Amino acid sequence: MSNIMKKALAKLLDGLFPPRCACCGALLSSSVSAFCPDCYREFAAARLLPCRHCGKEMMHCTCCNDTLVASGIYRVAKVCPYYPEREGSPELGLIFAMKRRNVKAYFRFAAREMAASAKRVGDISGFTVTYVPRRPESVSRYGFDHARMLARMIAEELDLPFEETFYRFRNAKEQKGLTRKERRKNASSTILPLNGLTATGKCYLICDDILTTGSSLSSCASILTALGATEIRGVVFAARG
Ligand SMILES: [Zn+2]
Ligand SMILES: [Zn+2]
Repeated sequence: MSNIMKKALAKLLDGLFPPRCACCGALLSSSVSAFCPDCYREFAAARLLPCRHCGKEMMHCTCCNDTLVASGIYRVAKVCPYYPEREGSPELGLIFAMKRRNVKAYFRFAAREMAASAKRVGDISGFTVTYVPRRPESVSRYGFDHARMLARMIAEELDLPFEETFYRFRNAKEQKGLTRKERRKNASSTILPLNGLTATGKCYLICDDILTTGSSLSSCASILTALGATEIRGVVFAARG
């Protein structure tokens, strides 16, 4: 099925079937939230879980690991923690849903949360919003790049420009299941700058859904640093606490 047909079908399905809670599947009365009231309460509590490194609540943590710092990122804004063992949790439900289904309400909700976190980190006027591109195989499979959708909406929420900056080689291996070292190698060998990209003197906010080892985000940041970017920050929905 072509991407255009996939998009048209998704739009039609959204009209026929109003959005449901991204976690429990209950019908939502409005498309302002991605969650029903019960799941929202659980999600709001997850944002307050402490970061294991700095001890701050995840929504206020800006921690960066050594890989990120080496690539030129010193602050990453987060919304909630990423614990795969929290199976069935609202945050994992939303991430899972955004990867597979193009439901605008889910993206709008996540983008608002991420924009609010990015603002808490510090002044972001003058920044350009970009994203860690998804593997081409996933884009063909699901018909869209969820990180791109998030980045576009975050730019809208923050009233900042959005820019395409990177692409991925086809046949990039899936990061899941690789060791830390393999991940770094896999990511750095597959994320490349778009032709003609110039970053001299610019400030970038790079968006992604999940931050684990930071290999993809740091690959993107290394490219922008090498191209002369002045400041690079990250914003993710969920991060390994
Ligand atoms: Zn629910
Ligand atoms: Zn922290």
